[in-house]
Amino acid sequence: MSESTNETTFRAAREGFHWDGVETRRYKDEPNAPYREVTRQILFSDPRLKGELRYFEVAPGGYTTLEKHEHMHAVLVLRGGGACLIGDDVRALKLNDLVTVPPWTWHQFRAGKDEPLGFLCLVNAERDRPQLPSDSELAEMKRDPTVRAFLEGK
Ligand code: MN
Repeated sequence: MSESTNETTFRAAREGFHWDGVETRRYKDEPNAPYREVTRQILFSDPRLKGELRYFEVAPGGYTTLEKHEHMHAVLVLRGGGACLIGDDVRALKLNDLVTVPPWTWHQFRAGKDEPLGFLCLVNAERDRPQLPSDSELAEMKRDPTVRAFLEGK
């Protein structure tokens, strides 16, 4: 590996949870994954790292895709609040809460009705594609009234 480098080692924070030289992207490239009002910024991604750190922001009333996969997530709430579903566990989220998403665990993040939900998410650099629930899996999840209320945004 070359000794000389012009890589960016410092990026200043800007107003409103943006950073110099960090592009605000669509949340997902997959057109069929259901979600609403989510943006994604890749803060750290380097082939020498085994992980990536991203900042996601869900606008009020929005939500991420309900999905599961082999790779894990480590999440820190950085802005606003809302709620999350991890397996069959529904939790309110406030600033600086930490959430671990274990492998093969259904998960979804929702912003509050009147506040955004911004969070850091650490993920494996090499990872499998998320899987979406089938109709029968979704029906099974909704047998739990707390989970049902969460999934229906109530
Ligand atoms: Mn995920």
